[in-house]
Amino acid sequence: MATTIITKEQWAESERFIAKLKEDNARFAIKNGRTRLAHTETYGCQQNVNDTERIRGMLSEAGFEFTDDAENADFVIYNTCAVRENAEQKVFGRLGILKHLKETHPDLIVAVCGCMVQQEHICEKIRKVHNHVDLIFGTHALYRMPELLYRTMQEKKTVVDITDSDGSISEDIPILRDKEEKAWVSIMYGCNNFCTYCIVPYVRGRERSRKPQDIINEIKELVAGGTTEISLLGQNVNSYGKDLDIDIDFADLLRIVNDIEGVKRIRFMTSHPKDLSDKLIYTMRDCDKICKQLHLPLQSGSDKILKEMNRHYTKEQYIAIVDKVKKEIPEITLTTDIIVGFPTETTEDFEETLKVLEYVRYDSIFSFIYSRREGTPASKLDFVLSDDEIHKNFDRMLQVQNQICLEKNLEYKDRIEEVLVDGVSKTDKNMLSGRTDGGKIVNFTGDESLKGKYVKIKITNPKQWSLEGELI
Ligand code: SF4
Repeated sequence: MATTIITKEQWAESERFIAKLKEDNARFAIKNGRTRLAHTETYGCQQNVNDTERIRGMLSEAGFEFTDDAENADFVIYNTCAVRENAEQKVFGRLGILKHLKETHPDLIVAVCGCMVQQEHICEKIRKVHNHVDLIFGTHALYRMPELLYRTMQEKKTVVDITDSDGSISEDIPILRDKEEKAWVSIMYGCNNFCTYCIVPYVRGRERSRKPQDIINEIKELVAGGTTEISLLGQNVNSYGKDLDIDIDFADLLRIVNDIEGVKRIRFMTSHPKDLSDKLIYTMRDCDKICKQLHLPLQSGSDKILKEMNRHYTKEQYIAIVDKVKKEIPEITLTTDIIVGFPTETTEDFEETLKVLEYVRYDSIFSFIYSRREGTPASKLDFVLSDDEIHKNFDRMLQVQNQICLEKNLEYKDRIEEVLVDGVSKTDKNMLSGRTDGGKIVNFTGDESLKGKYVKIKITNPKQWSLEGELI
């Protein structure tokens, strides 16, 4: 399938509306003695975080400033996620609160965008139940946000654009990023895999890879601005390049990025086990800047459930990949995703998942109780286990994994690790926090001026979820 690149003309049209918004914002500032404020909230995956950075980039160019507090904002936008039901419920809850805010601030503009509204039934629900929402647009209309927002402000009526398309890539949308030393770079969009529980291919469209030169240019620009850690992002990064008309795969791209001067660390996510080639494993092993960290979603250890999930690998094949990765890269940090309580899962199936956890000994896992998504094949399957049984299994799995996490972290005692300093620790304001090459969180005492720098830390106190250490 050919990738649609937003044409220069299409982006020029968006820029025309950015200029119009800017003029309008300038008039607002003269009249009110202050700049219009926008508040953005992001739900879901890193891809959404990256999209929000683009939304903020466009808003910033249009003259908006930002506030962390929705109550102070003139424009509130929620970039939503459709992967799990609780993320949707949170957005509906937020919209309920904004309804009251809008009664006292009638000029407030409320927008909902992203994966959740790309589903027609959700869009309808928002329009019926939350008719104070002014603007709704889907993932494919991101680049048109300036025009849609301008129309909303001028026409004073709800504007909706959830056009379904195979999707597009715009290389021109400005990005406003939060962190300078680390940056996420999208290398592809969409997914072709159609795992039966997942809504992503329906709301984000098919796989579209960016051209390598565009990715390289973006990374070089980031490096020139002080970024040293690059995380390559895509729903399934290791199928990168399959839709391009040049001969390149993900391993080739990694080698190219590894050669960019100024890049110190390269991470990537997410990888699908069925596309994890030997070539990629050797590339990870041989390229010094590629972090020795791999997130490899297992989802289930039962072959029956893996088949029901349409994952295209068996437990045995998955374990063979892990064995190979561990053999070639013994220091690898492994993480995974697990779904507990998939329809048709029995306790015997669940036990198979536990066995894989105990065999692989992941450094950490992201585990979820299955969330039914309307429109996916799995939503039509029946459950074997009761809610209570599923929750008990989930708790059992956490117990097993928590112990493994602790044991894996204890192995770090007295090791010297190089850490990229993120800043003040989220859990202890008196400490700094950073990450090792393998992605482990390290807390230590130090001066805030170390933010963005690489320091050597001796690990003195490994804990279950993080490591504590001393600057050396
Ligand atoms: S690989 Fe499967 S789980 Fe991941 S985005 Fe694609 S369909 Fe969803």
